[in-house]
Formats: sequence, C-alpha cells, structure tokens
Amino acid sequence: MTTKRVGVIGAGQLGRMMALAGIPLDIDFVFYDEAQQSPCSNLGTGIRPSANNALAQFIASVDVVTYESENTSLELVRKINLQKPVYPGELSLSKSQHRLTEKTEFNDLGIATAQFLRVTSKDELSYACQQLGLPIVVKTTTEGYDGKGQAVIKTVADIDAAWHALAGNELIAESFVNFSRELSVIAARDVHGNIQVYPIAENAHHEGILRVSRVPVKDLCPAKEQQAKDFISLLLNHLDHVGVLTLELFDCEDGLVANEMAPRVHNSGHWSIEGSYCSQFENHVRAICGMPLGNPQAKQAASAMINIIGKNGDRDCVLANANAHLHMYGKSERPNRKLGHINVFGDSEGEVDASLETLAAFIDECG
Ligand code: AMP
Repeated sequence: MTTKRVGVIGAGQLGRMMALAGIPLDIDFVFYDEAQQSPCSNLGTGIRPSANNALAQFIASVDVVTYESENTSLELVRKINLQKPVYPGELSLSKSQHRLTEKTEFNDLGIATAQFLRVTSKDELSYACQQLGLPIVVKTTTEGYDGKGQAVIKTVADIDAAWHALAGNELIAESFVNFSRELSVIAARDVHGNIQVYPIAENAHHEGILRVSRVPVKDLCPAKEQQAKDFISLLLNHLDHVGVLTLELFDCEDGLVANEMAPRVHNSGHWSIEGSYCSQFENHVRAICGMPLGNPQAKQAASAMINIIGKNGDRDCVLANANAHLHMYGKSERPNRKLGHINVFGDSEGEVDASLETLAAFIDECG
C-alpha cells in the first residue's frame, strides 16, 4: 500500500515545496511546527508542538515522517521512529549534525575532504594552525549554517579573535581548500536502494548565503562528474538513506573535495522544479512514501535558480520573462531571509545569461 499521509517536522519553504510536489500524488501533509502562519499554511494540517498531546497526535495522524532541517532534534526523531518510520533515518541525521563525525565518515568511505583536527582549547587551535598550515577555517562542530559559526585564520595574529568569537563550542579546524568553484550533487534513494542522481549544480554564495545555482556546470570533466556520483552513491548506501541527500563539494584541480552533506532537499536543487522531469521535492516524497523514483535529468539545456533574499522587489519583471518561473514562500521581508526564488531556463547557457541580464536590476535588489 502506498503511504498517503506525510508528517513534516518544520513548516518552512522546504516543507511547502514538498507539499506542492506531493499533493498531486494524492498525499496529505501534516506539519509539526510552532508557527501559526508559515509557508505551509493551507497546504496541510498544522500541529503545534507546545499543544497538549501534540506529539502523540502528530504520530497518530501520519504514515511516515520527514524533516526540513539537519538540526532537527535526534531525540524527537528517535521517539517518533518507535512508532512510525522517519526518513531519512537516524544514521543520516546524526552523521550530518556534527562536522567531525561527518568528515570522518567521508574519509572512511574514501571521500576526500580538507584535512581537519578537533579543537577544544586555544592551545589546540594554535597547534592546528601549525599542523594544518595557515590559512585555516575554524567552525563550530554543530549548528553552523550559511557561514555562521566560523572564522578564517590567516595569520597567527588572528588566533585570539577567532578563539574569542567561537570559544565555548567544540570546534573543527580545517585546512583551507583552494577551490575554483563550489558544486553540489543531489540524489534520491528509495526504500529498495534504487538511486537517482541529479545533474550537478554550480553554486555562487554571497555573505555565506546561496545566491545562484546553475545547471549544467560549465566544463566539468566527466571524471569529476563520475566522482560526484560515486561519492553520493557511497554515502546513500552506507547510510541506508531513504529520501534526498545533498553533498556540497569544492572543485579543485586534483578532483572534488567534500565539504558537508544535508539529509534533505536543498536550495541548490530548487532549479529542478521546472528544470528536471521529476523535481527533488517530488523524488523525496516518492522515496519516503515507498513509490518508484522519477527521472532527475534536466529537461532544459540550461537552468538557473536565483534566490530572492530580504526584499520582495518588483516581481513583474520576473513574470514578464517567458523563461522565468517565480516561487514565493509566503514569508515577510527581513534582512538575509530567503523569501522565494526564480527558476530560469533556456536552450543554451547563453539564453539563460540573457534572461539573467534582463533580471539584473531585480537580482541586484533582492538576490
Ligand atoms: P560551510 O558552513 O562549511 O558550508 O562553509 C561556508 C563556506 O565557507 C563554504 O561555502 C566555503 O565557501 C567556505 N569554506 C568552508 N570550509 C572551507 C575550507 N575548508 N576551505 C576553504 N573555504 C571553506
């Protein structure tokens, strides 16, 4: 029997896009989140965790549970898992929550990473600088996102400031990776172990926040493309992962270097909503519901996704562009908040560039 009721821990834009993909498949959604007004309002039932008996009610009202964030409480997932399946499973979630465990796991599987050391004191930080060689990147092992909770140490004079900014947390010191660009590979794995890998995306960040993702990646050699597919397949199988998994990669001269993974649909895969035959959201929902996976291949010769951040801007120019699709999340304006995105496609990369040109003023204001 096909699962019909999906519970989502969280009610942000990722849950919204899962529901928008799953509702046509006859799937109902229940969102476990404190917010009364959210991007998921009207797309399903909301259950507030602070309400009486909320967890029992949530568990009773769904067939399978998923989540929007790698920072989802492992304890909560464990409790739910005693009664209903949670996908991706505990192993995927726990390994993604801790940068040291994650990178150790990568290395154990033969997936290249920056060299790294655990740091819990200023002396250990100085030692890491000597061992790894400057510059280094220091990050909190948990809870960091969008570049928060990290510092770059370029000279020994930076050690004090970095320590003061991050002390009190367990830290990971990483050698500085000299990459030419940042890529991500997204794949879905179903309950039977079948895997579908999306075309690799190239991602541009500004102030730690993803701004633009593009597919295909220009001049990516077949060996690196294969390497990305091998890395993510190794991880998916090792974790016995069900659902979508994302792996962020640095493109280096000698090959790809893994930075981090997310056991979920990812901002760098939003292009797939119109850009591929079966979006990351639909494949995630299909996977966790025990349905066969769809085709992740690109429908268009070239696609781009531009985040709308902080301000809504004048969206008419987006709607006036025949090659653009607007996706708003129903959120209010706030600096650095992801409010929506635009997907642009074309018969060539040049055509996508031309569309981005016409949207330049909008992107400058909101991208
Ligand atoms: P993260 O929070 O690990 O995704 O890091 C945020 C950003 O910092 C990445 O997207 C990279 O641009 C940069 N970064 C992270 N780790 C390293 C590293 N070891 N070497 C060079 N740049 C890095």
